[in-house]
Amino acid sequence: MIQLENISKIYGANTENRVDALKNISLKIAPGEFIAIIGRSGSGKSTLMNILGLLDRPTSGKYHFEGKEVSRLPIDELAAIRNKKIGFVFQAFHLLPKTSAIENVELPLLYSDRTDISNLALNALKAVGLENRAKHNPDELSGGQQQRVAIARALVNEPEIILADEPTGNLDTTSSKEILDIFRKLSAQGKTIIIITHEEEIAANASRVLKIVDGQIDSDQENRNKTGNNIARTEQN
Ligand code: ADP
Ligand code: MG
Repeated sequence: MIQLENISKIYGANTENRVDALKNISLKIAPGEFIAIIGRSGSGKSTLMNILGLLDRPTSGKYHFEGKEVSRLPIDELAAIRNKKIGFVFQAFHLLPKTSAIENVELPLLYSDRTDISNLALNALKAVGLENRAKHNPDELSGGQQQRVAIARALVNEPEIILADEPTGNLDTTSSKEILDIFRKLSAQGKTIIIITHEEEIAANASRVLKIVDGQIDSDQENRNKTGNNIARTEQN
């Protein structure tokens, strides 16, 4: 499904602020895997997620997404693939204020040709247990509830892949557990899940844990007792 080959990302090439954020990363991800990406701040996790999620392009290397080489595609073509195939969840929720939960979830559908948008959005809210908060604005919801709305928004297009960058970073323990339960449920339904996290409990529930150190894969371990598809392996450089 996903194959990175010698992916590097350099910020500020040819300047004195040059950062080699990713260095020759090679990685295969199979459908249905539940992957936790761990590593210290500044190690390159978000850069890796942005490239995996087609939000950014690598400086060099190849990226095969469902068999197609996408590393040099124009931004608008990347966006078209991304909108269909990938749902994103961020640490800071990124919900529109003064806009109800259901309207936030409807946003990704507004430019699609789907009909019955509010029904789809309501179903996505049901999937995260928030159908009874559909008319509430973000400032009337707890942090955990806001993140559940953000997850519903990521799900509403029925993407195959969910990418989450520290989704519980702003949440208390109880809310974090609720969010983890949602990701586990999605994984059990066959979604491919990739979560950047500092939380051991999330990593312990993943089927595979990738540790990034200084822009490289330091370790790549399977949790054999966990669900998820364990066919893929990192190709060692
Ligand atoms: P992490 O998510 O693991 O904290 P990042 O991927 O955000 O790490 O950053 C990796 C490195 O790249 C850091 O040294 C960071 O300062 C640098 N970096 C990230 N984004 C940019 C950018 N847009 N421009 C320049 N440097 C960046
Ligand atoms: Mg980050």
